[in-house]
Amino acid sequence: MNVLVINCGSSSLKYQVIDTDSEQVLAKGLCERIGIDGRLVYQKTGLDKEITDAPMPTHKEAVSMVLEALVNEKTGALKSLSEVGAVGHRVVHGGEKFTESCLITDEVIKAVEECNDLAPLHNPANIIGINACRELMPGVPMVGVFDTAFHQTMPAKAYMYGIPYDYYDKYKVRKYGFHGTSHSYVSKRVCEYAGLDITKTKTIVCHLGNGSSISAVDGGKSIDTSMGLTPLEGLIMGTRCGDIDPSVVEFIANKDNLDIAGAMNVLNKKSGVDGISGVSSDFRDLWAAADNGNEKAKLALDMFCYRVAKYVGSYVAAMNGVDDIVFTAGIGENDAGVREKVLENLTYLGITVDKAKNDATHGDEAKISTDDSKVAVYVIPTNEELAIARETVALI
Ligand code: ADP
Repeated sequence: MNVLVINCGSSSLKYQVIDTDSEQVLAKGLCERIGIDGRLVYQKTGLDKEITDAPMPTHKEAVSMVLEALVNEKTGALKSLSEVGAVGHRVVHGGEKFTESCLITDEVIKAVEECNDLAPLHNPANIIGINACRELMPGVPMVGVFDTAFHQTMPAKAYMYGIPYDYYDKYKVRKYGFHGTSHSYVSKRVCEYAGLDITKTKTIVCHLGNGSSISAVDGGKSIDTSMGLTPLEGLIMGTRCGDIDPSVVEFIANKDNLDIAGAMNVLNKKSGVDGISGVSSDFRDLWAAADNGNEKAKLALDMFCYRVAKYVGSYVAAMNGVDDIVFTAGIGENDAGVREKVLENLTYLGITVDKAKNDATHGDEAKISTDDSKVAVYVIPTNEELAIARETVALI
């Protein structure tokens, strides 16, 4: 079956069409600058990318242009839209309501809307994308796949914050975690790859990308993860600060005369390795600057890797052991230097890195620890679109 996978951001829409029998991508691309002007990037597998500038006042026009491109006479990946068997939508926040993916109905849309205040930028965009597809593709079954769902197995001792219980009762303030589709896919895939019994395996997944998070997966279930109520908690990221003393918010707001929104903007958009280095949020730029003697870029890399290693250590404690550690996403898959620096702090676990293997691994599945390493370390590229397509087919 052909599944259209849709991932709507506030002003963007990423899409792929996946033939789930062969698991091949037939076409992919994105719409950018929705609500500003509008640009469609479309690529049928095997052909060059096409870029078309066209007005996209809302996500509806964006979806409409994607569907037209998919059935274009010359470069379309499909003959007609009837070849789309289902649509899988990435939805960022499912709150406590969604513990797994589900078929989209009017009730589901209402329940997603009720989670809007937990993800005010993302969930409304996801709903607009869902409604646009329902209007333009009536009768095609649609599935919602939630970033938060995989982490709903966390126990209360992991997801509650040390603040008055009333905030949980009244407003559901708690840790939710994100990147769930990736943590779920990678923790399953590593067991297939390494021939491990998932029900007996303790895995730590390091999803290191522009947004980064770590999860502790015990017996196939997430028992803790580093992101929180929002994706701001946990690791130091491209532009997000990760864990800090909450008093910093009041302190910088007072000093710089900012309101809460202004201070949060600093922590979300101007912090992380970008804010520390003053160079970039991209790790390729950070390494280049560090190699040229930029001390702040070196510090940013050191801080990033140190925080990852500390989280891994804490999740060994959370699971009372670990069998394997997996690196994934843009940095985790490609940056051998980051992996090496993180693993230098973990030799106490009996980890020995196969340096040649680590240095040679960029974006492929590989074991990067030696055979006698007490804990195995792997690189497993994530594939959230394929995971969404699989979930979609499984549900319909
Ligand atoms: P997201 O999905 O959160 O936008 P990705 O998982 O695609 O992010 O990761 C993007 C980041 O990965 C880039 O900002 C960059 O820091 C890093 N990255 C990508 N390719 C490489 C590479 N070859 N070497 C080092 N870092 C890389």
